[in-house]
Amino acid sequence: MRIETRAVHSGHEADSRTGALVPGIQLSTTFERAGDGSYPQGYLYTRLDNPNRSALEGCVAELERGAAAVAFASGCAATMSILQTLSAGDHIVAPLDSYHGTTVVIRDIFSRWGLEASYVDMTDIEAISRALRPVTRLIWVETPSNPLLKITDLEKTAALAHRAGALLVCDNTWATPVFQQPLEWGADWVMHSTTKYLSGHSDVLGGIVVTRQMDDAWQRLRQVQTAGGAVPSPFDCWLSLRGIQTLVGRVRTQAETAGKLAQYLLGHPRVQAVHYPGLESHTGHALACRQMQGFGGMLSFEVCGGQAEAMNVAAKVKLFIRATSLGGVESLIEHRASIEGPRSTTPPGLLRLSIGLEHAEDLEADLAQALQEE
Ligand SMILES: *Cc1c(COP(=O)(O)O)cnc(C)c1O
Repeated sequence: MRIETRAVHSGHEADSRTGALVPGIQLSTTFERAGDGSYPQGYLYTRLDNPNRSALEGCVAELERGAAAVAFASGCAATMSILQTLSAGDHIVAPLDSYHGTTVVIRDIFSRWGLEASYVDMTDIEAISRALRPVTRLIWVETPSNPLLKITDLEKTAALAHRAGALLVCDNTWATPVFQQPLEWGADWVMHSTTKYLSGHSDVLGGIVVTRQMDDAWQRLRQVQTAGGAVPSPFDCWLSLRGIQTLVGRVRTQAETAGKLAQYLLGHPRVQAVHYPGLESHTGHALACRQMQGFGGMLSFEVCGGQAEAMNVAAKVKLFIRATSLGGVESLIEHRASIEGPRSTTPPGLLRLSIGLEHAEDLEADLAQALQEE
């Protein structure tokens, strides 16, 4: 079945006892054993498994066409858990341009635990290849990347990873399984911050990893989840599963509006660059056309004059909301360099937009008045 159908029905089987269409929220932390000591329903203790969590995991595994999924309490908890499957002395190749929290986890936390990392421009296959070492165990890609929307060739990177005996992990948060299926290009694991498009309403924090096959590495990740315990609550799982039912409709509308606004900004005299893979002028456009079925609802642009001018524009919006995060129904604008702090490599004049479900013309009018010279 196609993704529209899977998104609506997966994990939503009618309850056999009551006939309810909407799943209940199972708050019990513990489950009764039968007289022979077995667990007839398969549930034992909620850190290990919970009906709401298994419904969410089953659904996202289906959306990404993977073998299984494991859910975490946040996107960063998913990232941490992936890295916790590695050992001291292992090496990973990580993107120069990625979600800032991913860089912080690798650089500030795992370096102290003996994980070696090389940071590479992931649009450059030769550079990825040169960074590989005999102890490279994992290549991390985020495509489109944050905040410059760079595109990485998943098929070529997967081939490189596998030749080196490493896993390819793709953060698919921005593209969503609606626009990109990394497992089909050879990625081993797909990671999501479900906080964003999958949940879709800026009201739940979560992360999830989907695997192509249930191998030893996967067993280690499942162990980090169940023994480490950075798991989402039943209510958070329920909210995410509910959000996913409208995922396809939401992201298609958001991507259509993002495309219109990218075109509008491209022609604006105060804008010096627009980063959106749907634009023919974007360096990753041809690859995005091959690898994706849509270009997503995120874009960024650089205001002429740098940080001060960009902050001025952000200060003047009336409909866009000045806030971090993305993937909700409301449009957000953010000056990334200032939230990333002094070590940020983001261009100082860059503003990032997360396009919501408002009318494209209302959003364009808001950008137009914010970009007006005084
Ligand atoms: C938000 C985000 C994360 C981190 O997820 P949290 O749920 O905030 O922990 C990771 N990757 C990308 C691309 C994100 O946008």
